[in-house]
Amino acid sequence: MQSIRYDELDTTGVVLRLNQVRERIWQAESIAGRPKNSVQLLAVSKTHTPAKIRVAWQAGQLAFGENYVQEAIDKQALVQDLDLEWHFIGQIQSNKTQIIAERFAWVHSLCKPQHARRLNARRPVSLPPLKVCLQVNVSAEVSKGGLCPAEVLPVLETCMELPRLQVCGLMAIPKPVSDPILQRQVFRQMRELRDSLAKVDLPLTTLSMGMSDDLEAAISEGATIVRIGTAIFGTRNYDKK
Ligand SMILES: *Cc1c(COP(=O)(O)O)cnc(C)c1O
Repeated sequence: MQSIRYDELDTTGVVLRLNQVRERIWQAESIAGRPKNSVQLLAVSKTHTPAKIRVAWQAGQLAFGENYVQEAIDKQALVQDLDLEWHFIGQIQSNKTQIIAERFAWVHSLCKPQHARRLNARRPVSLPPLKVCLQVNVSAEVSKGGLCPAEVLPVLETCMELPRLQVCGLMAIPKPVSDPILQRQVFRQMRELRDSLAKVDLPLTTLSMGMSDDLEAAISEGATIVRIGTAIFGTRNYDKK
């Protein structure tokens, strides 16, 4: 793994691209007949510098997503003067659950009951319950992890018993495809799965889906959080895993 050059101050274009992404989201909301700003933008800052986070924050972006725990906490330390909302969106390792429970407001990538129990046990009492989404593998892409649709209900039931977790909804990382029709199919399956699992005491309001190349398709199928990296921060210098 290459190290990130945190001293690098190349923030060129971040605000411009952030505004372009906002426009894309508004346009997609409008086409879908959804209220303006009903979709939350999560800026995925993995591999990108704290300087870029700072610039995005100055332009009004408060929620940031990170995939790797060590990278995230190093970066958080360098922007701790900002009041940011941190979302963990990467694969969870058991030995990192304490730090995730302490340093993040959200976890999008929960798949295992034992991780749910550990996050619940380690969530500091001084913080509100940790917001979680269960990651679902709808397009059966093995490498990305996630639960098969049939496995979701039992894990949801486990999470509901855990008072330090707040179960918000479902997350997906579909296999990248360029055809918008095919993009929408997978997102529609996610929405239908969510609808089939939602109950009065478990509304599952969050659908975390849509990235730089498919946010329009995701919004048209009901995404409530889109996770955007490249379209805001530019291409990543390296891609781990
Ligand atoms: C990297 C990443 C993103 C952002 O992807 P882009 O294509 O750069 O927008 C979103 N979600 C997850 C889980 C990621 O790992």
